[in-house]
Amino acid sequence: MSFSNLGLSVGLASAMARQFASPTPVQAAAIPPAIAGRDVLVCAQTGSGKTAAFALAVLQRWFGQQGPGGRQPQTLILVPTRELAVQVGGVLSNLAREAAIGVKVSVVFGGVSINPQMMALRGGTDIVVATTGRLLDLVERNAVHLDQIRCLVLDEADRMLDLGFAEELDRIDALLPRQHQSLLFSATFGPAVRSLAHTRLQDPQTITVDADVQAPPDIRQRAIRVDASRRTQLLRHLVTSEAWPRALVFVATKYAAEMVADKLRRAGLEAEPFHAQLSQGKRSQVLADFKASVVQVVVATDVAARGVDIAGLPVVVNYDLPRAAPDYVHRIGRTARAGQTGMAVSFVSADTAAHFALIEKRNGLSVVQEEVPGFEPAQVLPAISADRAAGGIKGQRPSKKDKLRAAGLLQSLR
Ligand code: AMP
Repeated sequence: MSFSNLGLSVGLASAMARQFASPTPVQAAAIPPAIAGRDVLVCAQTGSGKTAAFALAVLQRWFGQQGPGGRQPQTLILVPTRELAVQVGGVLSNLAREAAIGVKVSVVFGGVSINPQMMALRGGTDIVVATTGRLLDLVERNAVHLDQIRCLVLDEADRMLDLGFAEELDRIDALLPRQHQSLLFSATFGPAVRSLAHTRLQDPQTITVDADVQAPPDIRQRAIRVDASRRTQLLRHLVTSEAWPRALVFVATKYAAEMVADKLRRAGLEAEPFHAQLSQGKRSQVLADFKASVVQVVVATDVAARGVDIAGLPVVVNYDLPRAAPDYVHRIGRTARAGQTGMAVSFVSADTAAHFALIEKRNGLSVVQEEVPGFEPAQVLPAISADRAAGGIKGQRPSKKDKLRAAGLLQSLR
């Protein structure tokens, strides 16, 4: 399969072919029906190439049926977070530039002053990428109208519903023309997403890429047994002794993000906190510095667990374990993106050992537990049972069943 077989213009197909060898399974399955104008429902994780999938479809549709220079947007892409809005806007703008398509893409999100966004919309626009609350504010102020929308993309729909945006989605839906195309992307298909799809999509082409054909990301998972009180020291030790070029470290609270980053900084590392209470400007700056390797360690709450795409991120650390088992998958999926390898390290202490066992069980996997010399836990950790031997007893080889389970988890990451 090549990009030129998907029904894309020569410009778009070659823009992709210059960057990638071939379409991902999600791109191969979703682009043709989307270009044909059908509603599409896609079950896809971040990292599957879904952003380019809808970006290509949207640009191709726009290219093929530009209105009479109307200045109200014809395409609306709704996303759950500001970071994802910026990322999606970037993918669209890059592709449009590479393919020499003169489309105007506007990205709007909350947490920053509304005035520059109103100014930017003043001359009209073609494609709007938005978070829901800010979009509604802009509509109320007459900065944008949604009655010309022909194509709606809901990206990470499950995340939008988790964050409580259902009512805002309804309000936006009421502003759209009755007839429009909808493309819905979601990593999971719980009842809420199914009901959203049922009410919003008409005879959709449903795409769930067979796990077997998705390239499993190559993530080496480690669990390190350590006393809770020594985690920061251990983290510093690992960053230095294992020469981690960059690491994304997950903690449970904003306070912990500030505190751990501060301690690392005082120990001479370039570390920054990342959480929802920071200003949008600061968050963007931290991500930009991290991508540019100016910052070596970002200590983040789960606000960074999904959507954020940091190319070439080699290490993710669960300093605090995630509360819910699926979040483990989302967090470690920040590494090993786009075919690269990565490492996910979880700190396990006496009071979190049982929770880690539960995360493993829910995700059907067994992670080898290790101790780092000089950081052996003084507090007694529960014994590792023999039936978790694949991960539990040092040096013992994983059974076939354990390997299958772990492969299942990794497949589900893409
Ligand atoms: P997603 O979060 O699903 O949009 O995936 C994003 C990652 O997939 C980015 O790092 C892209 O550069 C990468 N990507 C997109 N399309 C392809 C492709 N056809 N082949 C390989 N990687 C791709």
